[in-house]
Amino acid sequence: TTRIVLAARPHGEPVAADFRTETVAVAEPAPGQVSLRTVYLSLDPYMRGRMSDAKSYAAPIQVGDVMVGATVSQVIDSRDPSVKPGDHVLGYTGWQTHAVADASAVRVLDTSRAPLSASLGVLGMPGFTGYAGLLKIGRPVSGETVAVAAASGPVGSAVGQIARIHGARAVGIAGGPEKCAFLRDELGFDAAVDHRAPDFADRLREAAPDGIDVYFENVGGPVTAAVLPLLNTYARMPVCGLVSQYNATAVPAGPDRLPGFLSAVLTKSLTVRGFIQAEFVAEMHADFRHDMATWIAEGKVRYREDVVDGLENAPSAFLGMLRGENFGKVVVQVAPA
Ligand code: NDP
Repeated sequence: TTRIVLAARPHGEPVAADFRTETVAVAEPAPGQVSLRTVYLSLDPYMRGRMSDAKSYAAPIQVGDVMVGATVSQVIDSRDPSVKPGDHVLGYTGWQTHAVADASAVRVLDTSRAPLSASLGVLGMPGFTGYAGLLKIGRPVSGETVAVAAASGPVGSAVGQIARIHGARAVGIAGGPEKCAFLRDELGFDAAVDHRAPDFADRLREAAPDGIDVYFENVGGPVTAAVLPLLNTYARMPVCGLVSQYNATAVPAGPDRLPGFLSAVLTKSLTVRGFIQAEFVAEMHADFRHDMATWIAEGKVRYREDVVDGLENAPSAFLGMLRGENFGKVVVQVAPA
């Protein structure tokens, strides 16, 4: 087994030395367990939080432990009747080429229904995050305007497309003209705005002529500052992620924006509600799987993946994702399917 462990807790942006590659013997499964070889590893922004020991909603990875992550694997050996050798399964076995897992902790995938990697993105946790956060907290109705940043990623692209399915106007915010063109031309967003452009705030105002009713918060920072004046009365703000802040080591320079933010919450009667997708799984995941599979089959939801070849490239791809160098859902192809 080749595996990548947390070598040191990063200060600010992680560096190569925060990761270490190790080789260990492949473990044997005990009764009730399966032995797996990893095919795809998902890379997700939340992993930055797990590398840190700051208090959060989930326990940190310990220094020396394997980096966590969702995986699609093939079963090599099974000591449980529910899983057969050769099956492909969704699991949570982390940044390694092989793993032993409890059979109860993996879900057998139907390989005839969707590409394997989709269960890590559009049909998996990130797609569900967009679905649940938008429909449960954002609650867009026909004719409203929904804005979302990191819009070409798996969460944001689900949010914008589901907003359109519900009759709303979707405004995507993304880094660079290529991603913006993709949002408009491939995903059907009504407008797309480049947050790196010098006139970003003006362009965003033009893209939302009737104001913004739902701002699905993925990034924080200057994007949020540009959105705030455009929010309508009774706008909803599902707070899903703050990726612009994940590597921050200090509060940003400049004026304290908190009083202005709270004034807007008060005077515009805003609903600001943070969430972690897991809280909606019991209630909504079955509907999500049905709806999303239907929308993909009907061509109403499209998705893009950024496939990185080889486990050894996972650290650099992860750092690149936090900087916006990815274009679509980042999955590492650890081995051929
Ligand atoms: P993405 O694949 O969209 O990757 C992150 C993207 O964030 C980058 O590609 C980049 O896109 C954008 N970004 C990075 N820095 C900045 C910045 N300074 N300003 C604006 N945009 C920036 O990731 P996901 O779709 O997987 O995740 C999106 C968000 O959802 C994250 O915040 C993540 O933490 C959150 N999340 C929350 C969950 C929950 O349960 N609450 C579950 C899953 C994800 P660009 O080039 O377009 O700027």
